Amino acid sequence: MKLRFLGTGGGRFTTITQKRMTGGFRIDGFAGKNFHIDPGPGALVRSHEFGLDPSDLDILFVSHAHTDHYNDAEILIEAITEGMTKKKGLVIGSRTVFEGYMRWGSCISKYHKSKPELLMLFRDQTINFDEFSIKGTKTSHGDPTGVGFQLNSNNLTISYTSDTGYFPDLHKYYKGTDILIASVLRPGKKSIKCHMSTNSFTDLVNEVKPKLAIMTHFGLKMIKSNPEQEAKNIEKQTDVPTLAASDGMSINIDDKNPSNFEVEYLKKIDK
Ligand SMILES: [Zn+2]
Repeated sequence: MKLRFLGTGGGRFTTITQKRMTGGFRIDGFAGKNFHIDPGPGALVRSHEFGLDPSDLDILFVSHAHTDHYNDAEILIEAITEGMTKKKGLVIGSRTVFEGYMRWGSCISKYHKSKPELLMLFRDQTINFDEFSIKGTKTSHGDPTGVGFQLNSNNLTISYTSDTGYFPDLHKYYKGTDILIASVLRPGKKSIKCHMSTNSFTDLVNEVKPKLAIMTHFGLKMIKSNPEQEAKNIEKQTDVPTLAASDGMSINIDDKNPSNFEVEYLKKIDK
């Protein structure tokens, strides 16, 4: 299984300035499926830039109706469905992504919803497929329907918090997870409503005790303050291997022993 980061920036100002890329990340080869998670602006372009083929995706996951998470969803649906000529693929997302709610969303046109299968995921809901299951996890964020996930296969549990503030029960959603991927917008104690900082993520890692913790979705303050150093500080305080993702990072994980992983970097392809 490989985690491939096509963007590790997050929040409005990192996105507008592209101080980090914002294409989300892929989980390739999980239970035999390829996932693209939160395809923000650049997901399509970064896929090609790093030599990945968006048409080999099986599942697109869109956690909530903020641009840095959904922007390229429609064009990736076109890639998956061979230019909207085939009924193919599965799109999993929050209510706002498909239907809209209050002032949020919807994020995918009727036309683009017509070819893939659609699955609206709610918090605390578990959906079982043949090869894996997905559970919706709670967020505390601007979009009131935003949802993270816990993916389970026979050997491996991988979780993604999406954008959320820390709250005391947050860890309960990620119990038993092997790999915990989180949006950590700010460094140190610089908490912000609706987002985690390094300090609150440290608390979460201590509570969940995954085999590997990964931070992504960095705001400008985090980028300036050295996310790799922040990750080292978390590792010291938790004894959990912790990585700050970077653009083009690919983490190869042994499905049967997730403590066994190696980091490499995707090469940019010149066209
Ligand atoms: Zn958000």
